[in-house]
Amino acid sequence: MGRVPGEGARYRGPVPVVPVRDDLRALEGYHSPQVRVRVRLNTNESPTPPPAAWRDAFAAELSRVQWHRYPDRAAAELRAAIAGLHGVDPAQIFVANGSNEVLQTLLLTYAGPGRTVATFEPTYQLHGHIARLTGATVVEGERRADFTLDTDEVARVIGQSRPVVTFLCSPNNPTGLEEPRATVEAALRIAPGLVVVDEAYGQFASRSALDLVTEDVALVVTRTFSKTWSMAGARLGYLIGPSWLVAELDKVVLPYHLDSAKQIAGRLAVRFVADMEQRVAQIKSERQRISAALAALPADVFPSGANFVLFRPRRLGGREVWQALLDRSILVRDCSGWPRLADCLRVTVGTPEENGAFLDALEEILR
Ligand code: PMP
Repeated sequence: MGRVPGEGARYRGPVPVVPVRDDLRALEGYHSPQVRVRVRLNTNESPTPPPAAWRDAFAAELSRVQWHRYPDRAAAELRAAIAGLHGVDPAQIFVANGSNEVLQTLLLTYAGPGRTVATFEPTYQLHGHIARLTGATVVEGERRADFTLDTDEVARVIGQSRPVVTFLCSPNNPTGLEEPRATVEAALRIAPGLVVVDEAYGQFASRSALDLVTEDVALVVTRTFSKTWSMAGARLGYLIGPSWLVAELDKVVLPYHLDSAKQIAGRLAVRFVADMEQRVAQIKSERQRISAALAALPADVFPSGANFVLFRPRRLGGREVWQALLDRSILVRDCSGWPRLADCLRVTVGTPEENGAFLDALEEILR
């Protein structure tokens, strides 16, 4: 007798509860709903794919992969290509499955029980989330009401908690603000441990901490192929940092963590810098249009150096506006329930048509 498909998976006995680690019990996962809509502006992806010439080169190289062999464990060619992009040594590049895995490897290596990690809130949720997963204590510094960060607050948090890792994020997600040079330098001056500047949106911004990276400073800058490179589907990110730190991360990350296809995808992508820069220029110009249009509506708009804009409708609640947009098949990120972000929504810069649809709908809702 054959079984009905799925029948076996439906366990009806007493639930065998296997307790998770005590320190993880209160933890919430990271949520980003994927809803089917006409205009999707909620996850800061690029609205356009990589160039066709990249896709063709990738397909050609894929056909030559020796699938019965493990990939190059050191990802030497990919690291050399990224190092070339930044004019640094390949030994100063660590690559992983998205910058999220870069962050995870950093925290597995340097955080952990009995150690402290500092963040300045609101910021990218995964910094604190992954730090907690490693068992570290997370100390949260506060930004001002306009989401700028006071260097006195940086000094206070670092001075009091002596973190082994201090996170800055520039441009900061979800606020969009760029961190002034002085803030990064202040953190570097006083931090007893590592300073991580998350530059996932770095190429959309007017400044970078990359030139501060040297062999004698405990600073790393993280980057991703998910945004400016239009390759969120590839899951590829990296950091630039001192070679002694990269050597430690190489010991912690799983062997062969970067599959052959991904190594090819990244290595070929950096040949198309000019295309990337053109896409970035287009996004920056659309960002300007969105910010200006939002400023003309009854909404507070926060200055952005990224591919998204944070805003707070004035007369209606954030959640209400989010729903009204969704009713028009436009999805933005609802930050209105997040701590310190009451009523705030974050819109990703899309194609000119998508941005137009978003602005028209919002104008209709807010006026
Ligand atoms: N850092 C920041 C600030 C982000 O916003 C994101 C993506 N949401 C990431 C890192 C992770 O990007 P990925 O893993 O796709 O490289």
